[in-house]
Amino acid sequence: MTVYAASYDLENVDLCIPGAAKLVEIHRKHEMPATFFCVASVVEKRGEELKAIFGDDPLIDVQSHTYYHRMLRDHLVHGPGIPVEELWVEVGKAADYIGEVFGTRPIGMRSGCGFEHGMKGEPERLKVIAACGMEYISTQLRGPYETIPSPFVDAYTYEADGFPEVWEFPTAGWHDNVLKGYGAHPTMFPGIYPFALPAGPVTNAREDFEAAKPWVDYAMEQGKAYVGLCYHPWSLYTLDPECGTIDLMLAYAKSIGMEGVSYTELYRRTKG
Ligand SMILES: [Zn+2]
Repeated sequence: MTVYAASYDLENVDLCIPGAAKLVEIHRKHEMPATFFCVASVVEKRGEELKAIFGDDPLIDVQSHTYYHRMLRDHLVHGPGIPVEELWVEVGKAADYIGEVFGTRPIGMRSGCGFEHGMKGEPERLKVIAACGMEYISTQLRGPYETIPSPFVDAYTYEADGFPEVWEFPTAGWHDNVLKGYGAHPTMFPGIYPFALPAGPVTNAREDFEAAKPWVDYAMEQGKAYVGLCYHPWSLYTLDPECGTIDLMLAYAKSIGMEGVSYTELYRRTKG
């Protein structure tokens, strides 16, 4: 049975606070867990407020979205990757700092932006990522030629690059900020699935949910292990200060019998 893996990339220093507060409230209402992948340099500025919002709640899982949101490898759209040695900051120092603030050191990381092939073919970089204590990463977030949306790809390990203990959990679908028209990114034409390309940017929570729903349905129909969409507190909040997209989405996932899991729980179940 497909599970709904909820995650939010927390990266906006101003809107992360009202956005996260609303999202946590919605997840509590539906009793569904969520992972917040947090940018450490944002936690530096808003850590105390975020701690108060997340509380000591088993529904809320805090992991890393790197230190400064820099490119972990070369990106066709966003430019060159940082030097390998900088990964000790972007991955390692980020986990150290987030662990210090929230009390549990992350074992998972969502990269900034994401890549068509995740970290495949980058053994030197994976070596640092593994040495920094990352047991799972979520870096395959894009379609062909780094386009958005991203196709469904099952979780895999980096065994082919020499790291069988490091897992990858790709996301599927749109990056919600792009779906909302907050920033231009290349998309694939024709769409990777019949439902992949909506007529235009979504303008309210109902449309936002309706555009994401086919991805959830497709995962269910195809018997995928999980559906993990790419959401940001800042863009959900900008579209609708109630973050109504997620209220609709969690209610829908439950209504079709999907269990909700955090990414960390998804990782634990997948590795067995
Ligand atoms: Zn991000």
